[in-house]
Amino acid sequence: MAQLTLKGVGKTYAGGVQAVSGVDIDIADGEFIVLVGPSGCGKSTLLRMVAGLETVTDGDIHIGDRRVNQLDPAERDIAMVFQNYALYPHMSVRDNMAYGLKNRGTPKAEIAERVAEAARMLELGQYLDRKPRALSGGQRQRVAMGRAIVRQPAAFLFDEPLSNLDAKLRVSMRMEIRKLQQRLGTTSLYVTHDQLEAMTLADRLVVLNGGQVEQIGAPLEVYRNP
Ligand code: ADP
Ligand code: ADP
Repeated sequence: MAQLTLKGVGKTYAGGVQAVSGVDIDIADGEFIVLVGPSGCGKSTLLRMVAGLETVTDGDIHIGDRRVNQLDPAERDIAMVFQNYALYPHMSVRDNMAYGLKNRGTPKAEIAERVAEAARMLELGQYLDRKPRALSGGQRQRVAMGRAIVRQPAAFLFDEPLSNLDAKLRVSMRMEIRKLQQRLGTTSLYVTHDQLEAMTLADRLVVLNGGQVEQIGAPLEVYRNP
């Protein structure tokens, strides 16, 4: 758990596209921030910079008191959940969840304990030996959540995690995500196209437009003053 601070953050892609500029966001410890805005406004770019999947060309990103601009994704103590789940198809659910911890050298007993706990929270206990292809979309997304949870990271990043699910499942999964996040108290930055999803999930909403923060505030504040 930690604060996540973006100060004057900008991104100019090679070739000159200025995707993000002058973004200041202070995310409190345990806060759930949802990032919305039209296609092409820079949401993915911003998230990917926080994750370390894209270099930062201006400004600073801090997780807690660590400046993370130059750190590899693995060193940032952040877990990201992707729209396409990004599961390893040849690994079981258990191994998908354990993979990141194994790479970090977490002791076996501790891995087993954390995976069991996450599986319990996500009601995946009976699927631990299955491969992702034998799961439904909602179950796959739960595995992706499980993989993030077991890391016990300082922050979660969500890149439209529910976009590939049908409408009904989207509603139940978003409640699940919110409950889990509140229970774990993990600082979260969540990107979505879906206004209802944003309203339901956000402590505060950030509206991006043309790579800049247009509005930031509680959901009702933001949608009352469009
Ligand atoms: P969003 O996620 O809000 O749809 P993106 O962050 O994907 O927005 O894109 C923001 C802007 O940056 C767009 O103009 C997009 O075309 C551009 N862009 C995104 N990725 C790249 C890239 N790898 N190289 C060059 N331009 C990019
Ligand atoms: P989304 O809107 O969901 O971010 P996009 O279709 O905009 O998806 O982007 C898909 C991928 O293509 C991303 O990895 C993004 O960085 C890259 N991309 C987007 N726009 C450009 C661009 N103009 N040039 C190069 N890569 C781009």
